[in-house]
Amino acid sequence: MRFPPGKSDVAQATMRKLIDGLYIIPGLVNMYLAEMAGGWTLIDTGFPKSAGKTIESIRSVGVAPEDIRHMVLTHCHVDHVGGAAALKLASGATTYAHHDDVAIIQGERGFRPVKPSPGLRNRIIGTLITKIVPKVEPTHVDVILEPGQALPFADDVSVIHIPGHCQGQVALLWARDGGVLIAADACVNRKGLQYAVVNEDIAEAGRSLEKLSKLDFEIACFGHGDPILSGASGEFRRTWLPA
Ligand SMILES: [Zn+2]
Ligand SMILES: [Zn+2]
Repeated sequence: MRFPPGKSDVAQATMRKLIDGLYIIPGLVNMYLAEMAGGWTLIDTGFPKSAGKTIESIRSVGVAPEDIRHMVLTHCHVDHVGGAAALKLASGATTYAHHDDVAIIQGERGFRPVKPSPGLRNRIIGTLITKIVPKVEPTHVDVILEPGQALPFADDVSVIHIPGHCQGQVALLWARDGGVLIAADACVNRKGLQYAVVNEDIAEAGRSLEKLSKLDFEIACFGHGDPILSGASGEFRRTWLPA
């Protein structure tokens, strides 16, 4: 998703601990800081020009930028990769993304077109964000994520390819505390689970959501909207699996 430039400065609020070793940096887009097997890992990087705020948030829980060893980019949209170049420079972290989004993240090609999801609110916001695309500094992707495999640095975190909202989008399933799903923009949690504001292919997004609904996880975290801290896969099943 794309938002007007200039909002970035106010986008991020104070970070909050969800469970031991997992923090949310909430905002117009949520980022996550996780203490995984291979070290501190940042999941998504916020809007352009937000890196300073992000570093401030991370420092507030005693983590220095250079402690971040890994940055997983769940997909190529501006609100998820906007801070990546600056945060990579500050941390020296290794960057990870799905093959299908690498060229976009590296600035070698433009964004794929998206369409708003049904509903007036989606139409208004979706139309706005496709018209105003802030400039994003390209980021080199060091490692391509392999769907169906574990993260190269954390064998208890699996990578799930969930195209639809964005062709190269991945979710992460962390095998702890009953399962922690980082759903990224597969859907949003806004008064219940809903399609993301825009999608490249909403039918494909629906199939990806069915795939996620067949997994077991207690906790679900989203790019947009509040995390669900218990019974999350039940809520996915009720929403996305045909009755
Ligand atoms: Zn997105
Ligand atoms: Zn997003």
